[in-house]
Amino acid sequence: METEIRQTRRLGHFIAGKWEVSSEEFFVRTAPATGTVVAEIALGTYVDVERAVRAARNSFDLGEWPLLTAIERSTVLHRVADLIAMNLEGLAKLDSEEGGKPIRIARDDVRGSIALTRYAAGLALQMHGTTYTNNGPDYMGLIIRQPAGVVGLITPWNFPLLIMCQKLPFALAAGCTVVVKPSEFTTSSTAELVRLYQEAGLPDGVLNLVTGDGRVGQALAEHKEVDVLSFTGSTSTGRKVIEAAKGNLKKLSLELGGKAANVVFSDCDVNGAVEGSVFGAFFNNGECCVSQSRLLIEDSIADGFIGQLISRTNQLSVGNPLDDDIDIGALIHESHLKSVMSHVNDGQSDGARLISGGKRITHGALSSGLFMLPTILDEVKPESTLFQKEIFGPVLSITRFKTLTEAIELANGVDYGLSNSVWSNDINKVLKFSRAVKSGTVYVNTTIDAPVQMPFGGYKSSGLGREMGEAGFEEFTELKSISIRTNRMPISFPPDIGNL
Ligand code: NAP
Repeated sequence: METEIRQTRRLGHFIAGKWEVSSEEFFVRTAPATGTVVAEIALGTYVDVERAVRAARNSFDLGEWPLLTAIERSTVLHRVADLIAMNLEGLAKLDSEEGGKPIRIARDDVRGSIALTRYAAGLALQMHGTTYTNNGPDYMGLIIRQPAGVVGLITPWNFPLLIMCQKLPFALAAGCTVVVKPSEFTTSSTAELVRLYQEAGLPDGVLNLVTGDGRVGQALAEHKEVDVLSFTGSTSTGRKVIEAAKGNLKKLSLELGGKAANVVFSDCDVNGAVEGSVFGAFFNNGECCVSQSRLLIEDSIADGFIGQLISRTNQLSVGNPLDDDIDIGALIHESHLKSVMSHVNDGQSDGARLISGGKRITHGALSSGLFMLPTILDEVKPESTLFQKEIFGPVLSITRFKTLTEAIELANGVDYGLSNSVWSNDINKVLKFSRAVKSGTVYVNTTIDAPVQMPFGGYKSSGLGREMGEAGFEEFTELKSISIRTNRMPISFPPDIGNL
């Protein structure tokens, strides 16, 4: 059954198995491509967060979910994956309409969400501990892995469904119970996902949704009954989350901003690197934490490479994100578009040279939406804001280098450390770069690939912890060491610890 998209959706909380759409206040979401109202989102309060956390707490402490067998939890997740697949087009349309992202990318996000949910279903079966029988003849040591408890999940607007699926099925696979808070700008696909979990038979109270703005996220981060908080968003909000979470020292996983470099050496496959540079910079409107927004190009091939880059960029089509054949859609909201444009203007004042785009689209069929041309600036200085700040739009800055050492210094010369790409056919150079660069991910002769088995996360100001892979699953678990005396010896004082 396909999800129906009504003209205006009214969305609210899901707490202890019940949908609640009444609220004193609603946030009105307009489609960034057209300016028409598409959703009204109930603005949750501290009281709503309190009720949702209580429901999750009760279902963790008293409910069946953490105690189910792995195969039972895994079966529910596989059922959800099937339901996501059945609703692929509807879910993709929700994210495309509300987020302004090209529908082709939104469909890939749904496919990725299915893969993540199935992978997490598999991990549920693998959850296990360790036994030590070498602690002395009268001792045995058990290390057991348990669900960490009540989990809060806060997600951004750029990959609403996909990022929720990088967290939610992993937390549930581990046996945790959850409260989710999507971005107010793109709530619909998460609400629909919650409905699919309900349809798949997840017990009431295991998964709760509180809709609303940053105040809901803040309340979740502060709440003392939340044991783990997994947050994806900007570094500045991540710092607020650290501050809010300190009350009960909850376990934190923070997936934050990025400023990736796309490093192109003269010995690469040039056509592949041009294509990769265009994709890396402009994929998802450049609104991507791993956007390769800095092109570092070896001086000896720079002029020819940049020429090819401009012609390929000129072929990209900007348009209504719901159209199948467009490459770049609408930016998320008006103030974000203004911020992106001001970075482009400030960059030129700092000495960068605009060589493509650089304009908001203010005429024709796209004039009522938030559209801009894909933009390239050359001669960008490493100390400039354009080079240093996360711009989060379709803007590529170019800086030239001469040596491998210089390329590594430039790649590392920002506060962020989420991802970098390197293009070269010299394995020694590639490995040297990959080991020296301070980022959680390195793409070699490719860019923005995210297989579900590979852990993802940041160095430096790009975050704490990892998502996806086994490491991502472990974020939602705790280890417990159980020391067992296996022989009934009288306890001596000081104790006779056999293994010392
Ligand atoms: P954001 O403004 O930091 O918001 C992220 C989420 O936090 C939203 O749900 C937001 O709610 C909520 N929030 C706002 N204030 C909060 C507070 N004080 N306490 C707790 N939660 C709060 O980020 P964004 O603009 O949505 O997303 C873009 C950023 O996310 C970029 O920096 C990007 O690099 C980063 N990102 C990182 C990754 C990664 O994996 N490392 C992936 C994607 C995006 P509202 O939206 O309702 O205000």
